[in-house]
Amino acid sequence: MSPKPGGSVEACCPGSRNPPDFDHSRELIRYSLMAPKRIYLSPPHLSGREGEYVSDVFDSNWVAPVGPHLTEFEQVITRRLGVDHALAVSSGTSAIHLALRHLKLKPHDEVLCSTFTFCASANPIVYEGATPVFIDSERESWSMDPDLLEEELVDCARRGKLPRAIIVVDALGQSADFDRLKAVVTGFEVPIIEDAAGALGGRHRDKSIGSSGWCSILSFNGNKIITTSGGGALCSNDTVLIENARSLATQARDPVPHYEHSQIGFNYRLSNVLAAVGLAQLEVLDQRVEAKTNILNFYRQRLGCLPGITFMPEPHFVTPNCWLSTIQIDEQLFGINCEALRLRLEKENIESRRVWKPLHQQPAFHGCRVRGGAVADELFSTGLSLPSGSAMTPEDLERVATTVESSFAG
Ligand SMILES: *Cc1c(COP(=O)(O)O)cnc(C)c1O
Repeated sequence: MSPKPGGSVEACCPGSRNPPDFDHSRELIRYSLMAPKRIYLSPPHLSGREGEYVSDVFDSNWVAPVGPHLTEFEQVITRRLGVDHALAVSSGTSAIHLALRHLKLKPHDEVLCSTFTFCASANPIVYEGATPVFIDSERESWSMDPDLLEEELVDCARRGKLPRAIIVVDALGQSADFDRLKAVVTGFEVPIIEDAAGALGGRHRDKSIGSSGWCSILSFNGNKIITTSGGGALCSNDTVLIENARSLATQARDPVPHYEHSQIGFNYRLSNVLAAVGLAQLEVLDQRVEAKTNILNFYRQRLGCLPGITFMPEPHFVTPNCWLSTIQIDEQLFGINCEALRLRLEKENIESRRVWKPLHQQPAFHGCRVRGGAVADELFSTGLSLPSGSAMTPEDLERVATTVESSFAG
């Protein structure tokens, strides 16, 4: 049973008796009315035109997983990324699943994947009955370490069993070092799936993030920089991949007048209604990146000089979308660790989040091989993402900064 709210307060007054539950709930209601407004990590931020576009959908009766808004949404994404094709689907996870299904993995096939990521990067490997092998991050970008990737590929080649794909995750709104990663992969001919779920709007050298792999995936989940409430996209220059993925995403109907299926498909297409929301969101993507960049700059100025706080490094080849402003805490210098700081913020009704617990440490992936792992482990034990919602007010930012400053106990 969880402890009763208010119980600990009573417990420190000897002889006092816990009031009945009824009083507790009244206390809670009174508290929540008085509590400062909650500051969320990265809530949805509407542009104001979503309703207008959704009305268009209703007026034209395209309430379906096809329609002009969906087609337009895909075209805007391809232009934005500078790729030939985009397929809008129900989530980033389903986009990864479609790319892997296209490769026709067999049991015991291996797929390499960044260990410093969200579970959704690797879950589809398991859906397909293949085996994930995790690769650690480099300190410069927090994304996949090209040297470790090379070691792993050389070992795999020596054993005569190359992986079928490599899922490279663009960590926290930044980009992996694709020049080096691609140089390593040349000669092995293993396709790279770029998981750019959280990095839309950022730049890698002179290109959009999300255009470096054989294919890339985006997510429009509610906590991403733009959202359709839920949704994703598979993007690529490979026409054969996108055509097959389009078929797989719509129950794999063969092009004949009756229902004919030569492969097992999925129901993964994005709704035209949600694509309308996405169109309104894409219009403000640059504004969202700008607002989030300002938030990061504010935190840097206010908190960058506190002993024990450092910011996620920005490699020279990246212009991040600044999705989540992320710091690292050196407990020796700052006085408390990142979990204690998270709790301090929570007490002020401010949501922050520990960075990903690496997948090689997740019980669900117990027993999977990992190359390296110490860097991702260290990031998990020190990293904290601060509230980064693009609609945050100067007062919100001030509250976060003041709380972090007053938590300093060095
Ligand atoms: C959000 C996210 C996903 C999953 O996207 P969904 O649209 O939620 O399925 C995958 N990978 C990374 C790195 C993410 O941040």
